[in-house]
Amino acid sequence: MKIAAIKTYLMHSGPPRDPTALDRPDAVPAYATGQPDNGARHWLFVKVITDEGIVGVGEGSGWPLVVEAAVRDLAPVVIGEDPADIERLWQKMFVAQMGHGLTGTVGAGALTAIETALWDIKGKVLNTPVWNLLGGKVRDRIRVYAHASTPEQARAFVEMGYTALKTGGVHRVPEKVGRLRDAIGPEIDLLVDMHGAPWLNTKDAMIIGRELEAFRPLFWEDPVAPENVDGLRRLRDAVAVPLAAGERWGNIWGLQQLLGEGIVDVIQPDTGRSGGISQMKKIAAMAEARFISVAPHAGTLGPVAEYAALHVLAAIPNTLILERFALDWEPRDHVISPSPKVEAGSILVPDAPGLGVDLVEEEIAKYPPGHNVAIRGTAKMNAYEAGTFRESVYVQTRFHRQSVFAR
Ligand SMILES: [Mg+2]
Repeated sequence: MKIAAIKTYLMHSGPPRDPTALDRPDAVPAYATGQPDNGARHWLFVKVITDEGIVGVGEGSGWPLVVEAAVRDLAPVVIGEDPADIERLWQKMFVAQMGHGLTGTVGAGALTAIETALWDIKGKVLNTPVWNLLGGKVRDRIRVYAHASTPEQARAFVEMGYTALKTGGVHRVPEKVGRLRDAIGPEIDLLVDMHGAPWLNTKDAMIIGRELEAFRPLFWEDPVAPENVDGLRRLRDAVAVPLAAGERWGNIWGLQQLLGEGIVDVIQPDTGRSGGISQMKKIAAMAEARFISVAPHAGTLGPVAEYAALHVLAAIPNTLILERFALDWEPRDHVISPSPKVEAGSILVPDAPGLGVDLVEEEIAKYPPGHNVAIRGTAKMNAYEAGTFRESVYVQTRFHRQSVFAR
């Protein structure tokens, strides 16, 4: 069997955004609605097509418009090769892109898309699910968490069966966490994400983290920029809340410092841009050696990467939980088949050969790609000082520093 072709499928994956909407007097920034800001979100799927008619699917993230170009650039490196040789082909593609860096998410996203499809092909050839090829199942279902911003949302998710909820943002975080804790009681796990905002410095994060200790979060995610490894190290030693990070790094080399030094308690590789299924397995093993658990990032990911995560999380010992937008954009369920089965806050591990999912190309074609960078709020939303936008949003955010802590 030989790889004959690689096809890419890039789609816009959120409600189309009206560019004038941000200027309306009643405009509300996405982070205040509790709903994901999908205006710029895109999904990139691939098909690796073999000369024997077996086709594997995969997904790559990490700036999908750019990753698509990287996939096309890498395709000639593996066309004509035997798709069974997953590790060798990964190394061949990796060496081909070596000059672009070892840890970037664009290169890792392209590797992920192709490598995931190779695992799908292998499972289909051997007529067994990918989790079986990874050592077999440790569990039959993967616990997931939903996102809640208000007490009402939190209570609704608990009624639906969710036992873990994530909240956060960059403003009034302890206040928000306190309100949710009051609404859902002590038994439900709360997760807090501060999104690694570059203007959050380590001392500010320390103030917030010490307030969060009383709410016993399951983890506290990206309290400072992911690149601020020294800040994370200092927070680890100063704040008694488990730290989580890792969603914006690719490959084992992107995560090795967080893992090797035991800086985090929970590692969050993104199943669309961590380098692929083999890289996820290696990252999980590096984490296991440091008693770190795995909670993959998935907020921006599409449904094929979610399937890949289910297979990895089924087969590793140190699975903690998986991220899921419980009320995501509806076409998510139509661009693939079948949809994963969600039951009482868990997803059932799929049993079909390979990944067990296929693309629905006619549905994907309905959502042509657009602009793939996020547009933040306006002066009216208090996102920056009126009349000074050109100075820099980064600096402007510091003008509202008190709102970070306000209760
Ligand atoms: Mg995050």
